[in-house]
Amino acid sequence: MQTNFTAEQLADPHVATSEKILRKCVHCGFCTATCPTYVTLGNELDSPRGRIYLIKDMLENGRPADAEVVTHIDRCLSCLACTTTCPSGVDYMHLIDHARMHIEETYRRPFWNRLTRNVLAAVLPYPGRFRLALKAAALGRPFAGLLKRFKPLEPFGAMLDLAPRRLPKPSDSAKPGTHPATGPRRGRVAILSGCAQPVLKPEINAATIRLLTRLGVEVVAPEGEVCCGSLVHHMGREAQALEAARRNVDVWLDEIERGGLDAIIITASGCGTTIKDYGFMLRLDLAYAGKAARVSALAKDVTEYLATLDLPQQEARGLTVAYHSACSMQHGQKITLAPKTLLKKAGFVVRDPAEGHLCCGSAGTYNILQPEISGKLKARKVKNIEATKPDLIATGNIGCITQIATGTQIPILHTVELLDWAYGGTKPAVLS
Ligand code: SF4
Ligand code: SF4
Repeated sequence: MQTNFTAEQLADPHVATSEKILRKCVHCGFCTATCPTYVTLGNELDSPRGRIYLIKDMLENGRPADAEVVTHIDRCLSCLACTTTCPSGVDYMHLIDHARMHIEETYRRPFWNRLTRNVLAAVLPYPGRFRLALKAAALGRPFAGLLKRFKPLEPFGAMLDLAPRRLPKPSDSAKPGTHPATGPRRGRVAILSGCAQPVLKPEINAATIRLLTRLGVEVVAPEGEVCCGSLVHHMGREAQALEAARRNVDVWLDEIERGGLDAIIITASGCGTTIKDYGFMLRLDLAYAGKAARVSALAKDVTEYLATLDLPQQEARGLTVAYHSACSMQHGQKITLAPKTLLKKAGFVVRDPAEGHLCCGSAGTYNILQPEISGKLKARKVKNIEATKPDLIATGNIGCITQIATGTQIPILHTVELLDWAYGGTKPAVLS
């Protein structure tokens, strides 16, 4: 694609990066067929190619974002299916990240939208606040229907719908500390505690720690770690995201100095995609660029790391698992085979639902901010999963677990909970 940026515009490193991305697009439109919002809405401006044109026009003309651009960029799930499909290697992720930053800097959102986003950014990344908010949501649940009838308050109704009826007790696995390997030590890793996941499903990291320590890996949960920054990063709140990234980089580098780390284990693929991008996010910060790149290189999804440990084949369990590949897993991190191979080795029959490339509609805070499109994608995803007639569903991202669980009665678990069970751990409570 031809671009017309001035030398002055290109002096801005964000614009220079976006210009290189834009030039790679050849307008072929292959990406439209796999874009969930284009498939759902049928509007070219809600396709990757349409958004690329909107972003190009806005940046080239040095214009502040307007309501039309914001509408179509906000509808993008950042699922990155387009990056998997694109034959030209267009780095859509960094382009849309830049567009979101530009929107945040130049556009004043309507009051209720601003309020909703401020609440989400002030609550979700902090486990203590999130826990309190979920307790309050239990009281507000009867009003969900009422809130959803008034368009500007729809996101608050969606939040109440998503809140679990009962919260699990906080787990020790969320506390900082070291979990020694059982038997001879074959590795040492840090585990990301996370923000929303330890509140909603502390059993995921508990299962990871049990499994890894039994396999001879020491697991450390470092003191001082914060949310990875993904939630605010996708809202265009770059200062807040970079502050979180710097804090985590410092914490993990301290841990490397203290005892060495073979990997930083992440059990939520949405967080994994962001931490693997810390090197890029902090590339302009001379004090952090190198350190962040080192951290990104150590970041591993738990299934990616387990695949290196050569786990033995287990006997068949007589259970069929529909594997839902989170977008951040398959498109963001390009991890497609490892989780399924591990589940098969663990003795499960694994099924791939149709349209596996399409997002379930969770996408961070998307199911709160865009409940209508998200609801349509959820219904489509659940229909495809249920068509495989599984006993259970496995996936590697807490957002997808929360989203899909509100649309089906079939139990949904994190892949690592099933692996822990298959290799000597406890049976997941949801299956008992
Ligand atoms: S990230 Fe997903 S929703 Fe956004 S343009 Fe690409 S395919 Fe469409
Ligand atoms: S598939 Fe790639 S090159 Fe083709 S229109 Fe989409 S982003 Fe551009």
